[in-house]
Amino acid sequence: MARSIVLELVVRCERCLAPVPVPTVCSSATCERCGSVQALPDALWTGVFPPSDSVAILRRLGRGGVEYKPHDERVSRAVWIRRAPFCPGCGTELDEARIQSRLGAGQLPCPACGRKLAVRAADELCRALQPDALAVVSQLAEDEPATHRTPVIPSCPTCGAPLLADGRSRSVACRKCGAASVLPDEVWAQFHPVEIPRPFFLLCTRGTSTAER
Ligand SMILES: [Zn+2]
Ligand SMILES: [Zn+2]
Ligand SMILES: [Zn+2]
Repeated sequence: MARSIVLELVVRCERCLAPVPVPTVCSSATCERCGSVQALPDALWTGVFPPSDSVAILRRLGRGGVEYKPHDERVSRAVWIRRAPFCPGCGTELDEARIQSRLGAGQLPCPACGRKLAVRAADELCRALQPDALAVVSQLAEDEPATHRTPVIPSCPTCGAPLLADGRSRSVACRKCGAASVLPDEVWAQFHPVEIPRPFFLLCTRGTSTAER
């Protein structure tokens, strides 16, 4: 039996401080809010998910999970759960043998809902996280929630002039007519995006019973 680990990683954008969910084991992620590319050096990964700690944690927790208290101030969320890969669309567990058979194709359709997931063989960085890493399963880029939305510019309900909001207060006074108005939810959310992790799965060759290194 192979073992599978679910990882969730959210970093903070170095430019605008918005949370940036990291969708897979990779060396960069793009901030949805400002579009800047965030470098994710190997040291960040191994600092957040140290392989030796994780083995000890997995042994202790069995099927449970753990949220790390990251040492890295760029990391706002780092979660490690021992769990079989599942479809993020419908929750159906994905068969390990099927994942392995689809490594060449690069995509795996969910047997229940048909949603396509990205599968690839583990690279060097994956093996730095887990020496026996075999494959990574992640969500396809096209399934990402509306990325790089055009910012909504609120306008004054009284005179129609654009409102200058900076995210510090929900109530903004119009610079043209002076009327006070409350920013709508979608505008407020632009300044205060919710941290939505995008879990991905690391499939490893050995079961937990032989996970000692
Ligand atoms: Zn940003
Ligand atoms: Zn599904
Ligand atoms: Zn106005």
